Amino acid sequence: MSPSPPKSDAGAPPRTERETLPLTPWWYWAVPRVALVAAMAAVGALLWLLHRADLEEQRATLISDVLWVEQNLRFHLGKVQGLLEEAARDAADGRLAPGTFAARVELLRGNNPWLVQLAWFGADGSLVAAVPPGLGRDSVGEAAETVPSPETFGFARSLGKAVFSQPYPALGQDYHVEIHVPHFRDRSLTGMMVGIVSLNALLADAVPWWYAQKYALHVVDDSGNVLAKKSRVEAAASPLAYAVAFDPPGRGLLLQALAYRTGTNLTRNLLAASIALLALGVFASLWALRRHVQRRYAAETALRAEHAFRKAMEDSVRTGLRARDLDGRITYVNPAFCRMMGWTESELVDHGPPMPYWVPEDMERTLAVHRRILAGDAPTEGVELKLQRRSGERFDALVYEAPLIDAQGRQTGWMGSVVDISERKQAEQLARSQNERLQFTSRLVTMGEMASSLAHEINQPLAAIASYNTGCLNKLESGRYTTEEIAGTLAKLGAQAQRAGRIVRRIYDFVRRSEPRRAPCDLNAIIGDALGLVEADARARAVRIVRSLAAGPLEVWVDGVMIEQVVVNLLRNGIEAMNDVPAASRELVVKSDAVAAAARIEIADRGCGIDDEAAGRLFVPFFTTKAEGMGMGLNICRSIVEAHHGRIWFEPNPGGGSVFRVLLPRTENP
Ligand code: ADP
Repeated sequence: MSPSPPKSDAGAPPRTERETLPLTPWWYWAVPRVALVAAMAAVGALLWLLHRADLEEQRATLISDVLWVEQNLRFHLGKVQGLLEEAARDAADGRLAPGTFAARVELLRGNNPWLVQLAWFGADGSLVAAVPPGLGRDSVGEAAETVPSPETFGFARSLGKAVFSQPYPALGQDYHVEIHVPHFRDRSLTGMMVGIVSLNALLADAVPWWYAQKYALHVVDDSGNVLAKKSRVEAAASPLAYAVAFDPPGRGLLLQALAYRTGTNLTRNLLAASIALLALGVFASLWALRRHVQRRYAAETALRAEHAFRKAMEDSVRTGLRARDLDGRITYVNPAFCRMMGWTESELVDHGPPMPYWVPEDMERTLAVHRRILAGDAPTEGVELKLQRRSGERFDALVYEAPLIDAQGRQTGWMGSVVDISERKQAEQLARSQNERLQFTSRLVTMGEMASSLAHEINQPLAAIASYNTGCLNKLESGRYTTEEIAGTLAKLGAQAQRAGRIVRRIYDFVRRSEPRRAPCDLNAIIGDALGLVEADARARAVRIVRSLAAGPLEVWVDGVMIEQVVVNLLRNGIEAMNDVPAASRELVVKSDAVAAAARIEIADRGCGIDDEAAGRLFVPFFTTKAEGMGMGLNICRSIVEAHHGRIWFEPNPGGGSVFRVLLPRTENP
C-alpha cells in the first residue's frame, strides 16, 4: 500500500475491475514487429529495385556505348578502306611511283597509326610495292599464315570488292587483320591494295580514353580468345557485359565491353547497411521497450496482487487503522476503524482535529496526546485513550502510532492502529473483582477458623466487663462505696469495652478491606496485631511463639490491614504445620528487621517442612494438603506482597520445618 493512499482507494469495495486488468492481447507486440519486418522488406525491395533500375540504365548505356564504339571503329576502317581504294586506283593508273607510294603510305599511317603496312600486288598476286618493305617477314610471328592471305586475296578478286582477312597473330601479342582492296579495269583485275591493320593499335587509337575508364573493351574471336583489348586494369567478371558483332573486319569477331564496377555500388551498399543498422537499432530499442514494458507490467501485476493482498488483510483485521497527514488530517481509514467508530470512510477522511470520536470530557488530554504524536513523540508502548462511538458509547482504546514514510524517505504523516481494549479492561476488572471476592472468601474462611479463638479473646473483656459490672452493683447495693471507687471500676469497665470494640473493629477491617491503602505503618505493630489474632489458637495448640522483633518502630509504606492478613496467614500455616510434632518442639519464631531499603519479616516453624513436589505448587491457587484447607492463603499473600512491590519466598529451616520470608518496601516509591 502506498504511504498515503488516494482517498478513493481507502476502504473502497473490492476493485475487481482494476485488479483484473486484461492481459496484453497477442497482437500487442506482434503488430510493431510485423510492421518493422514489413518496413525492412519494403526498404530491401526498394533498394533492389533501385539496383535493378541502375543496372538497366548501366546496361542501356553500355549497349549504346558499345554500338557507338563499333560504329566508330567501322568508320575508321571504312575510311581507311576508302583511302586504300583511292591508292589502288592511283597505283593502277600508274600514278604512284615508288617514292610517291611510300610518301602516300607514311601520310596514311601518320593519320591512322594502326595501319601497320600497305602493299600493292599485281593481278597475278605478285608484290609490286610494300611500305614498309619486307611484308610478312619482319612483322609476322611464326604461327602466322602466309601473308598476305591468298584466301582473302582470292575472295577479294572473286567478289570484286574489299574483303577483310581473318585476324592472325602478330609479334608483341598483337593480332593483325588485312584489308584486300581489288582494282578492276574493264572487269579485269589490275591489282590488289592490301592494308595490314593492328587490332590493338586500332583500339588504342580509335577508342577514346574515357571509354577505357568505363569499360574494358575486347575483340574476341568465335572461340572466345581475346585478340585485342583496351582496358584500364584487368576487369573482374562483371555482371554487365555486352558484345556486338565486329564485322568488318569480320567473320565471327565480337566487340565486347565489360563495365567496371562503379562506386555507386559502394554508396548503395553503405546506404543499405545504414538502413539495416537503423532498422536493427529500431528493433533493438523496440525490444528494450518491450522488456521495459514487460517488467513494468510484471511489477504492476505484483503490485496489484500485493495491493489486493493488503486490502484483504486490512479488511480482515479487527484493529482499526487510520492514517493522518502532518497536519493531523485523516487520509485513510480501514473498515475495522469505521466499524469501531460508527462513521463512514467518507465522513472521516479529510476530517481534521478535533475528531468526532474524541470524548468531549477527555478532550484536553486527547488533544495533548494528539499534539505529542504530531511532534514526533509518540510513545512506542502506545497510548490509552477513551474514545466514543457514533452512538455515544464510550470505550477504551489503545493507540499505537508509527511514522508514514513515502518512497523518497520523507515523512508524510502518521499511521495509527487503534485497538478496542474495553473488553480486555472489563475482563481485567472482572478478574480483579473476582480476586477480591476470593480474598474476601478466604478471609471469611480464615475468620471462621479463627472464630473460636476470637470468641475466647472477646470473652475476656466481656468477662472482665461483667465482673466489673457485678462489683459496681455489689458496691452500690451494700452502700459502702466511694464515688472514686465506682468511677475507677467504671473506667476499667469502659477500657475493657473499648478493647472488645477494638477486637471487633479489627476483625471487621480485616474482612471488609479490598483496595490497598498504602501509608507509613510500623511493621512491628502490624505483626503485634496479627499475633493478637492467632495467639489464642496457638495457645490452644500448645505452640510457643517467640518474638524477635526489631527494636523500636520499623516503618514500612504498606496497607497495614493487608500486610496483617499476610502475617496472620503465615503464622497460622506455621502453627498448623506443627500439629504432628511433639508439643515440646512446637516453637514459632517471628522476626522483623531492616535490610537496606526494605523491611523483612521472618516466620520460622519446626513443622513438617515442605517437600519438593509441594514446593513447586505452594503459591498456586487451590493447592492445599489440608482436609479443610482452601489453598488460597499463600496465593493471596503473594498477590498482596507483589502489589506492594515486595517479595515472598520460603526456605527450609536448618533445625527442621520451614522459614517464610517477606520483604517490604520502607519508602513510598521503592
Ligand atoms: P491452606 O492453608 O488453605 O492449605 P495455603 O495457601 O495457605 O492454603 O497453603 C497451601 C499449602 O502449603 C498448605 O496446604 C500446606 O501444605 C503448605 N504449607 C503452607 N505453609 C506451610 C508451612 N509453614 N509448613 C509446611 N507446609 C506449609
